[in-house]
Amino acid sequence: MIYQRSSALFAEAKKVIPGGVNSPVRAFKAVGGDPVFIERAEGAYIYDEDGNKLIDYINSWGPMILGHAHKPVVDAVIDRAQKGTSFGTPTEIETKIAELAVKMVPNIDKIRMVNSGTEACMSAVRLARGFTGKEKIIKFAGCYHGHSDSFLIQAGSGAMTFGTPNSPGVTQGTAKDTLLAAYNDLNGVKQIVDQNKDEIACIIVEPVPGNMGCIPPASGFLEGLRQLCDETGILLIFDEVMSGFRLAAGGVQERLGIHADIVCFGKVIGGGLPVGAFAARNEIMDYLAPVGPVYQAGTLSGNPLAMAAGLAMLIELSENPEIFNSIDKKTEYLHEGMEKVLKANGVKHTINRVGSMISVHFSEDPVTDFASSAEAARSGKFNTFFHRMLENGIYIAPSAFETWFISDALSYEDLDKTIAVVEKITKDFD
Ligand code: PMP
Repeated sequence: MIYQRSSALFAEAKKVIPGGVNSPVRAFKAVGGDPVFIERAEGAYIYDEDGNKLIDYINSWGPMILGHAHKPVVDAVIDRAQKGTSFGTPTEIETKIAELAVKMVPNIDKIRMVNSGTEACMSAVRLARGFTGKEKIIKFAGCYHGHSDSFLIQAGSGAMTFGTPNSPGVTQGTAKDTLLAAYNDLNGVKQIVDQNKDEIACIIVEPVPGNMGCIPPASGFLEGLRQLCDETGILLIFDEVMSGFRLAAGGVQERLGIHADIVCFGKVIGGGLPVGAFAARNEIMDYLAPVGPVYQAGTLSGNPLAMAAGLAMLIELSENPEIFNSIDKKTEYLHEGMEKVLKANGVKHTINRVGSMISVHFSEDPVTDFASSAEAARSGKFNTFFHRMLENGIYIAPSAFETWFISDALSYEDLDKTIAVVEKITKDFD
């Protein structure tokens, strides 16, 4: 494939944008080479500036669950844009999307819209601190909750890839209030809670992490967190920015039947426009301004264009709940197909999957937490895999620490093509 124009555009971009990108992982720094500049996308495919057609397994890092340029979403945005793009006043569409989200997601009474997953998680933690009157939080190594200061303590994905888990600019004062635990290690969490009696406001967790690759929760782990929180008055925050409206209409809460106190959303809820949200039962949400004392705001929060896209997306999902089963089945098919060819080629690997989140690790050892994910990435095989996939028209995330996001626009023919490419490119892997 030819990437001449993409490389030229990247060179131009680097002159005026730090690293040529507006979000670090896009720069391909982890895997090497120049990033691909995308010109347009439709359904399961993205088309780059050199005219290459690629099967897309990133899907804008999750939002495009129904594929790109999905007609009802695009139509809703066009229709809305013609009536004005932002007013900074309440609009009816904000209530409509809130009503639908509250109906789809268990255990929430109210939801507040923000502009990104980062904002959602940052605001959720502030709310938890305000509500409990406590300051410390527990997060898990390798879980990513956006780039707000409290979370850049061994965060996953982009932050991980760049080897600066504790970014300069995050103060010691902030860092000391974030306590780190290992995902899937319930006893470790209990110890931290014991050592910080009555000081912890919340435990924030990606219930199914996707930022150290996809990691399935060990049996009893999330249930154990719930019980621990119930016993100690700590709030449990599920960061469902990736898993929300993907692993089920009601996210992990519905899929695994475990309830969280506060839930964070992003990605799918915005239908591809910049939207995040956080939600909880009335008692907690009424702590927010203007009703309660915890301040949180946004000039463009609830923006009509973004709400139109998000509402159209949620309507599609709520009216066609078979979509969740369909993407799970497609991902299972991909999983089984890749498993078979990797085995036949004698490649040491572990494929992790929960529903339509899947990741391939080049190690035989189980990948259950940040340490084992990092160990699997150490072989460097992922980078070769990534570039060979791209050369063969398959676009996966440019980092070993990301999950693949399957969209319902992918056909079984696309999946077969992908499996055939995996077979072809891994023959010399071990
Ligand atoms: N939480 C999770 C679980 C995420 O995966 C991400 C982004 N990948 C975020 C929070 C932050 O979202 P955003 O990039 O929209 O700020």
